[in-house]
Amino acid sequence: MFDFLKKKLKESIDVIQSTFSAKEKEEEAGKQNKGILSHKITEKDVDEVYGGIKQALLENNVALSVLDAIHSDLKKDLLGKDVSMLGYKKDIENAIKSALSSVLMGYPEEKFLQEVRQRKPYKIMFIGVNGVGKTTTIAKIANLFLKNNLKVVVAASDTFRAASIEQLEIHCKNLGVDLIKHKYGADPAAVAFDAVKHAVNTGADVVLIDTAGRSDLNKDLLDELKKVKRVNKPDMTIFVGDALTGNDLVKQAEIFNKEIGIDYSIVSKADVDKKGGAVLSLAYVTKRPILFLGTGQGYDDLVSLNVDKTVDFLFSS
Ligand code: GDP
Repeated sequence: MFDFLKKKLKESIDVIQSTFSAKEKEEEAGKQNKGILSHKITEKDVDEVYGGIKQALLENNVALSVLDAIHSDLKKDLLGKDVSMLGYKKDIENAIKSALSSVLMGYPEEKFLQEVRQRKPYKIMFIGVNGVGKTTTIAKIANLFLKNNLKVVVAASDTFRAASIEQLEIHCKNLGVDLIKHKYGADPAAVAFDAVKHAVNTGADVVLIDTAGRSDLNKDLLDELKKVKRVNKPDMTIFVGDALTGNDLVKQAEIFNKEIGIDYSIVSKADVDKKGGAVLSLAYVTKRPILFLGTGQGYDDLVSLNVDKTVDFLFSS
């Protein structure tokens, strides 16, 4: 992930550096004392730096609101700063790193597990458009909980999409987890309600609620999800988005966040996405952290987003 963004950022930074090198030569030529060369960064310089990386970010599906945030962060960091003509490259690179770090937001697995251990049964509702990897992600989260000695119940509350219940059934069988299901067309809120009841009766620690996710995100679907939430009062709502869908993922997240509310996000298919723009945009747009990245089709293919490591990777040689 982020390989393409890394390549594009490197190209942009090379261009920014050659622009600044030309400035350096100009200023050097105009100065008497060549030993104290320094430069106060102007608004034009900041715009040049931003202009340099903007294209790279756009080509990697970074959302426009995120670009604006990065621009203003760069301004805050760099404008009026006295930089030595020898050290400015590092200053600029650090400012870009810090602007990217401030839009990204990860969340440690340990804190997530701590949160889930606070109540029993802890109810987690998953939302996201069909095909993004929601079912697989629920199975991965169930696997994580099982490995941490938490007993899991899954609610098959996507009663709309053909085969969704069977698909969950296969995962639950593989993992040895109870699945509560009704027939297709049944009330999703009632399925989740029964799953919570089952969890109370069997002493389960966590209930994972799958939900429907038609791609047009119409009013009926949103009303259905609101009802699941109203009736079952989940302790946490997790949005699952597909990294490969780029800007679509950001649009979906904005709608879900406004209508249903998102506590955390998980971005699936990070292993096949080379751009990373969706990940860069998502936390900023929802103002909520990214809990995990999905990195494959196996149950263990789930990793936390480490912001420092990610940004270091973008600027490593
Ligand atoms: P749903 O319709 O949202 O429930 O999506 P599914 O869970 O059925 O996933 C759709 C497809 O994406 C399946 O083939 C999954 O195996 C695949 N998938 C899910 N998560 C990942 C991931 O992190 N990486 C990769 N490479 N494939 C994934």
